Amino acid sequence: MAVVPLDQLKADIVEVGRRLYARGFVASNDGNITIRIGDDRLLTTPKSVSKGFMTPEMMVIVDLDGRKVAGSLDASSELKMHLEVYRQRSDVKAVVHAHPAVATGFAVAGIPLDRAVLAEVICTLGSIPIAEYATPSTQELPNAVRQYIKAHDGLLLANHGALTVGTDVFAAYYKMETIEHFAKISLTARLLGGERLISQEEVLRLQSLRGLYGIAAPAPICLDDDVSGGGAGVVDATCQVVRSPDTPGARLVADPASGVAFGSRDRVPGDDEEIRLTYRELAALVEDAVQKLR
Ligand SMILES: [Zn+2]
Repeated sequence: MAVVPLDQLKADIVEVGRRLYARGFVASNDGNITIRIGDDRLLTTPKSVSKGFMTPEMMVIVDLDGRKVAGSLDASSELKMHLEVYRQRSDVKAVVHAHPAVATGFAVAGIPLDRAVLAEVICTLGSIPIAEYATPSTQELPNAVRQYIKAHDGLLLANHGALTVGTDVFAAYYKMETIEHFAKISLTARLLGGERLISQEEVLRLQSLRGLYGIAAPAPICLDDDVSGGGAGVVDATCQVVRSPDTPGARLVADPASGVAFGSRDRVPGDDEEIRLTYRELAALVEDAVQKLR
C-alpha cells in the first residue's frame, strides 16, 4: 500500500477538524483527532485549539506512550483515550472524538443507539453502545472505552460525546457523521410515535451485503448476547446487541419496548385496558348518549 506523505495526513486532520466544527459536532476547543503514522508514532491535534481553525503546522507527533516527539504545541488532552484504542485495535489507523449534540443527548440520557432502524447504520456500525461515565482526560476514560472498542467502531461516551475509529481519518469521520445522523432520525421517529424496527431476518440479510458495500467491518452485528469481536483469545470484549425482533417473514416490526408508541395508534384496546378521557370528552359522550335515548 502506498505510504501517504506526512504533510498530506496533517492536511487531512485539518480538513476533518474543519468539517467537525462546520457541522456543529464540536464547540469551542472540543474534540480531537489522531492518525497512526507508524508502529510507535501518532499524529495528533493539539490541546486548546478550535478544530475549525487549525493549520498543518499545529499538529503534534507522539509515541504510543503519549510522549511528544515533534511539534511546538502540546498534544490533545484526550490522548490517553486514543492511545488505548490503538493498543486494543491494530486494524485502526485513525480516531475521531467529538461532541455532536443529538448523539451526545442520547449519551446524556443514557439511551444507547441500539435499535435496528437504518440499513446503512447496521452495515457500518451495528449497535452503538454507551461507555460508562468517566472524568475527561483521566485514565478512567480509556478504561471505560476499552470494554466496547474491541467490538465496535463507534461509541457514545456517557455524559460526554462520541468516539469513532477507522482505517483512515475520513472513514472515522464519516462514522461520526453517521452516528449523529442516526441520532437525529431516532429522535425524530420517537417524537412521531416510535420506530419500526428492522427484523432479525432482514438484519442478517444486510449483514451478508456488507461486502457489497465495501465494508470489511471488524464491528460485528451482534444478534445475541454472545461476546464476540476482537477474535480468539479476547475474553473481555463486549459487543452490544442490535435490538431487532425475531419475527419470521416480517421485515419491519413495531418496537415492543416502545409501549404506547408506534402501533398503538391503529390498535383497538383490549377489554381490560384503561382508556383516559378528558372531562370535556366524557361530557360529550354522555350528552351524545342522552340525545340517542330521547
Ligand atoms: Zn470530549
